[in-house]
Amino acid sequence: MSIKHKKSGRRSGDAAAGFMPVMEILIRFDGLTKRAKPSSKDENAETLQKEDAKALESAAALLKALLDEGIRTPDEVLDLLYDYRLQAAESQRLRKRFEIADVPIRLGSESLCPSCMKKLRKIPEFCPNCGKKLKSI
Ligand SMILES: [Zn+2]
Repeated sequence: MSIKHKKSGRRSGDAAAGFMPVMEILIRFDGLTKRAKPSSKDENAETLQKEDAKALESAAALLKALLDEGIRTPDEVLDLLYDYRLQAAESQRLRKRFEIADVPIRLGSESLCPSCMKKLRKIPEFCPNCGKKLKSI
């Protein structure tokens, strides 16, 4: 697999990069949202303030969703995505092996498992050597 392991030594990166933990950002957002609430009589300013408030509320909702999943820092978001991609790749590999049947390779009078190339006496449902799901022709 070509994905580089990013996890080790990343945890200390947040503070060093000057990132606030998600909870602190949410507290700040709450204050900003209150201050961005429309107060002016100017219609344009009011629209802008409404949009600012909406943007802050939307960003806060995103962060809240992450926090609910136990994510507290930007590095933890990256770790989560890294783990997710690994799991997705592994799940796809297992599915290809055990759920999708492939026809054995014919070599003269012999049949070979298309995954591990082991000779097959008859065509079983799964290769006795590697577990690859097989289908007869
Ligand atoms: Zn096999």
